[in-house]
Amino acid sequence: IKIKVTKIDIPVGVASAFEGERIRKNDMYAEFGGSKTKAWELVRMKDMASIEDGKIELVGPDIDTADKVPYNLPFAVVVDVAGKSMEEDFEPVLERRLHYFMNYIEGVMHIGQRNIAWIRVGKESFERGLRLKDIGKVIYAKMKAEFDTVVDKCQVTIYTDKAQVEQLEQELAFPKYRARDERLATLIDENVDTFYSCTLCQSFAPAHVCIVTPERLGLCGAVSWLDAKATKELDPTGACQPVPKDGVEDEEKGIWTEVSKAVDVASQGAVSRVSLYSIMEDPMTSCGCFECICGIMPEANGVVIVNREFGDITPVGMTFGDLASMTGGGVQTPGFMGHGRHFIGSKKFMSAEGGLARIVWMPKELKDDVRDRLDAAAKEMYGIDGFTDMICDETIASESETVLEFLESKGHPALTLDPIM
Ligand code: SF4
Ligand code: ZN
Repeated sequence: IKIKVTKIDIPVGVASAFEGERIRKNDMYAEFGGSKTKAWELVRMKDMASIEDGKIELVGPDIDTADKVPYNLPFAVVVDVAGKSMEEDFEPVLERRLHYFMNYIEGVMHIGQRNIAWIRVGKESFERGLRLKDIGKVIYAKMKAEFDTVVDKCQVTIYTDKAQVEQLEQELAFPKYRARDERLATLIDENVDTFYSCTLCQSFAPAHVCIVTPERLGLCGAVSWLDAKATKELDPTGACQPVPKDGVEDEEKGIWTEVSKAVDVASQGAVSRVSLYSIMEDPMTSCGCFECICGIMPEANGVVIVNREFGDITPVGMTFGDLASMTGGGVQTPGFMGHGRHFIGSKKFMSAEGGLARIVWMPKELKDDVRDRLDAAAKEMYGIDGFTDMICDETIASESETVLEFLESKGHPALTLDPIM
């Protein structure tokens, strides 16, 4: 029997309107994570019998034990769920919603995910009576309400006991995170027969359709192939729909008749042909929430990639914002494309134009973020060691001429490829 939860009985408001709320240092009563303490979160599937539906438990001190303000406490939240249609693959999808659920609480701010969670509780909400179990109550209620097709039972345990937070991180959270990452790493486009479309961003980019594949996640970076698959399961007529990988026209460019057809239908005829692995020929459209933009730098015979967080000008003479204004809106713009960070380590990245070897410049932070996967892929594709270090960044040069000098000094492979345009 499913219990439908409607009203959440806690001392402060719970609404999506509180999502954008910021809690500044001076207004802060308690803080978990950031750089001060550990904070992590986990959604875990269990069998029905081992869950007591609605149980909310706190292991460790509550915030009213504070000896000073702000009160810095270690924090972990483990959300156990069970259901007939629940699958382990859905765990990360549910887990990512924790960010929103906590942010919906008046006077609670949540940033990050997994073991980089960072939560603040405001003074005013504390004074009105908000305690940690209330956060658990909200998580419980929202899990049951939003995921009612897969979550039949749910229990929430919050840990603030330092020893337990540390021990369970090692024994429970890390192995789970690792197993999920390993599952993702072995998922490649060749190994599936279905991609997914995502049309969530059509509310502001009406013709935009993301085709989500194991290697090319949604350009927002938030929708992986597994996420899309789960979304379809949770909401069969929703934003993510299966697209059969049928009618291969060109594997290297990533063109399938059925994929193009699906985009044609989902874009109401605005876009009728898509090459998933090309930036020049019928590239995928971009909405506005891409993590990165890739754009051609003709004189280097390659591309620059810039992430949203980078504020300065790039070697193509434009900032992220300039590039975004040319790329977004759901139209195809050959020579530019939006994509997620994760795509940068894929052998499918621009495989139509020679692949990863085309990347000539990226901000330093992005380089460091993608280095391991990028180096491994470049080694496999071209036999190059340490490819990421051949790519220029803003700490080396951002002017066309000096970037070229750097690329030449490194013997960057893009310089000897066929002309990109
Ligand atoms: Fe969906 Fe993300 Fe693409 Fe938007 S950007 S359509 S949310 S995958
Ligand atoms: Zn979007």
